[in-house]
Amino acid sequence: MSARSEIDSLRFAQSAERASGEFAVAELTRLHDILAKLDGVVQWSLEGSARTGRPAIVLRLRGRLTLICQRCLKPCVHALETESILPIARGEDELARWENEDPLLDGLVADPRLSVRDLVEDEILLSLPAIPRHAEGACDQTDGD
Ligand SMILES: [Zn+2]
Repeated sequence: MSARSEIDSLRFAQSAERASGEFAVAELTRLHDILAKLDGVVQWSLEGSARTGRPAIVLRLRGRLTLICQRCLKPCVHALETESILPIARGEDELARWENEDPLLDGLVADPRLSVRDLVEDEILLSLPAIPRHAEGACDQTDGD
């Protein structure tokens, strides 16, 4: 396994590096409060990109998380499949300027020791539905599988 636990985010973006791996859901402790089950894995990949004017990291996540349906309070499987483009600014000033130009920008300040797990946890938390629920009418038909 060549998965690294930390990356130098700006260098990673500028030199178009790639990395991938997976975390057991049991390791992603910041998610545990909202999960009904701690089994399974989340696969991740990181790809540096300097193609546009801003160095960026593309983060892709894939996995299955078992949330708690807020209608019936039973387990509710959520298919995680996200792709986030994260521009890497050299400092707070640059990030603020970028956010001014593009209010939807989801950027990070360069960190020579960015924790991949923290990054993955942050992106999962941002991507999850605010109120997880089974599909309309599906609550009684599921037993969490
Ligand atoms: Zn339900």
